[in-house]
This record gives sequence, structure tokens and C-alpha cells, in this order.
Amino acid sequence: MKSENQPITPGSAPRKNTRQAKVKWGDNVITLGGNAAILVQSMTNTDTVDAMATAIQVKALADAGSELVRITVNTPEAAAAVPAIREQLDRMGVPVPLVGDFHYNGHTLLRDYPACAEALSKYRINPGNVGMGAKHDLQFSQMIETACNYDKPIRIGVNWGSLDQALLARIMDENAARSEPWTPQSVMAEALITSAIESAQKAEKIGLPGNQIILSCKVSAVQDLIGVYRELAKRCDYALHLGLTEAGMGSRGIVASTAALSVLLQEGIGDTLRISLTPEPGAARENEVIVAQEILQTMGLRNFTPMVIACPGCGRTSSTLFQELASRIQGYLRTQMPKWKTQYPGVEEMNVAVMGCIVNGPGESKHANIGISLPGSDESPAAPVYVDGIKMRTLRGEHIAEEFQAMVQSYVEQRYSNRLILQNT
Ligand code: SF4
Repeated sequence: MKSENQPITPGSAPRKNTRQAKVKWGDNVITLGGNAAILVQSMTNTDTVDAMATAIQVKALADAGSELVRITVNTPEAAAAVPAIREQLDRMGVPVPLVGDFHYNGHTLLRDYPACAEALSKYRINPGNVGMGAKHDLQFSQMIETACNYDKPIRIGVNWGSLDQALLARIMDENAARSEPWTPQSVMAEALITSAIESAQKAEKIGLPGNQIILSCKVSAVQDLIGVYRELAKRCDYALHLGLTEAGMGSRGIVASTAALSVLLQEGIGDTLRISLTPEPGAARENEVIVAQEILQTMGLRNFTPMVIACPGCGRTSSTLFQELASRIQGYLRTQMPKWKTQYPGVEEMNVAVMGCIVNGPGESKHANIGISLPGSDESPAAPVYVDGIKMRTLRGEHIAEEFQAMVQSYVEQRYSNRLILQNT
């Protein structure tokens, strides 16, 4: 009997069409929004006054794959340090633009430190933190005029923790006049979106081109964030920066950010993202970059690093060798990427399978570019390795990990250096 089912078509909705900003530094330029790749951002937590420590952390974030790095610019000393940070990054050959994060005194810092205004590639302005009353519009205008003068894009970054109080009061008054007032949650969402869009319109009136404006409306609850961004995306075509603010620490922060951003990305919403993780004590700041990349890569939206496909292990797993090998290969691939991404174009699309036994091991290995099945508890002590779907070798003995890693290296050299030759001919 003929099936009436429709073919299953996995994949996200087409990307929402947004305007495209240009983020420049020196002779470099990257594009954000429109049809550009969804960019990964991060933020330092060093004291910006310490130019060397900040440059080192920016380098670590950029090496991990952050495509823009935001730094706090909160004092005259911090503003004075920004050009030195840029110069140090250029000396170290770190090709990443710096974004300045301003609150309260951004208008004076940008005015008094022109070298800072020039060295930054983008300014983040929080309309809730640019002054109260009559000063608000004046100080906001001063920052926008600086962005126009230096040809810098801006992000209007609204945050529910620092919402413009005058605007919130206005939205609340409007709500009170409704025959059926909205919930406080809806009023808050409306205020966030209104703050972002009205600020962007003001910036355009002052003279900043609309394509140089990126918007964000960050809240800390998953469902609120999804609702706010869906509406924001409906009401404007500015490029959108996604992020769940104060996502939290450890798995909670990762899961909450992934849950919120995945829904939006699946709907084609979002041009750049930052994962706001609270680092565990002693944990690397770069984890937020890795999480952002993994969200995009596991959703099939971008490729950054070869993926390790590993089973969870179970009662058939004979030893910890399987977990150790999966972890070793994952770490190896990541540390090689800064070098490999220029030497071996396309390597970021590679899949490596590391499986715990022959139940699913050979099947997954055949689907991967290269894969290994370690022996399960009742299996002979042999580890078959598949390359491009064909069983190539069987590894035995105490040096399986080293030998498999060498096979991965050799596979990359053969498979992806050919692409380089093809690209150059
Ligand atoms: S592949 Fe083998 S070891 Fe891994 S989860 Fe499946 S049955 Fe368990």
C-alpha cells in the first residue's frame, strides 16, 4: 500500500532577513547580520586597566573561536588602556575586533578618549544606563554622534535588570489605561522591545545608518527570552544579538542558554550570540565560546571544530579507556584547530566516532569520517578503525589511543590538504 506520509525534512526555518553591519579594525572587516554567518561573541572578565592581562584573555577567547570580544570600558583608566590592548593584539597577530561595553559614563569616555573611540570596533550602549531625565537623550545622542564620526556600529543592548525607568513607567501607564491590563510579564517584554526599537530609531534620526545598529533584549528566563525575541524579530529588521542574561553556572547555564537560543535559531532568529556563563572557580573563560560554537554546530548552522561522536557507555563498556580516548581526541581536535583551520580547509566538518563496543560502534564508525570501536566487556581485545566507511585497521595492545590519534592526524593531512591544493588551482 502506498504511504500517505510526507517526506521528513529536518532543518531550521530560513534565516530572518536583517540588515548587515560592518565591524572594522585596521584593514580587517567582518559582516554581522543579513546573510553573514551567525557570529560567536564573548566578553572578558579582566580589569581593562590591565592592558596585558586583558589582551591575553582576548587572545584566549579569540583562539577558542570568539569572533568579537567585548571588554568593559568603565573608567578613564580603562578607556586609556583600550588602544594599548588593540596594539598588543595586533602585535600578537590576533585578528579579532574589540567591542566596548559602556554604562553611565560612555558619553564622556568616548569624548575624552578619542583613541579609545577609534580603537574599538563597536560600542555597546545600554539605553537604561545613559542617564536620567533630560540628560538621557543628550548623553545617548553624544554616544551615537561618536559612533557616526568614527564609523562604528553599535549594539543597543537592553537588559531587563537595567531597563529605562522612565520608559517603563510610560508603558505601565499605558497598560493601566487598558480595559484589560496585560500581565506584568507582558508589560516588561513590551518595555524591553520598545526601549530597543525606539532607541534604534533615535540613533537613525541622529544619523547612524540602520544597518550599523544591532539590537539585543536580554532577560534571564528562557520562555521570556523566546517571547521577547520572537516579537522583536517581527517588529524590526535590525540585526539581532542573542543571549540569555545571567544564565548561571555550570550545566544550568549551558542548558538554559541552549534551550532558549536553540528555539530562536531554529526559527531563523539571531545574527550573533553570546553565552553568559558564570565560570566555575578556576574554569576557563573560553567555555562560553565553546558552548556557543557547539549550539551552532550541533544545530547544523555552522562548523567550527571536528565533532566527536561518542556513545555514553554502558554495562558493556569494558574499561575507562573509552571515556579517556573520547576525551583525548576531543581535546586534541580542539587544540589543533587554530593551526588546522588555515592548513586544512573543511576539516571543521569532519566527524570522528569513538564508541564503546561493537553494538553500535562499527555502524557509527562507518558514518563518520574516521571511527573506532573499543572492545566491549565480552569482546576480543581488538579495536577496529573505519576510514570513510571502510574497515582500515584493527588496533590492539596498550597504545590504541596514541595510534588512533596518529591515524586521525594522517587522515586530516591526506583528506584536507588535497582540498587546499584544489582550492589554489
Ligand atoms: S555502543 Fe556499546 S558501549 Fe556504547 S552505549 Fe552502545 S552498547 Fe554501550
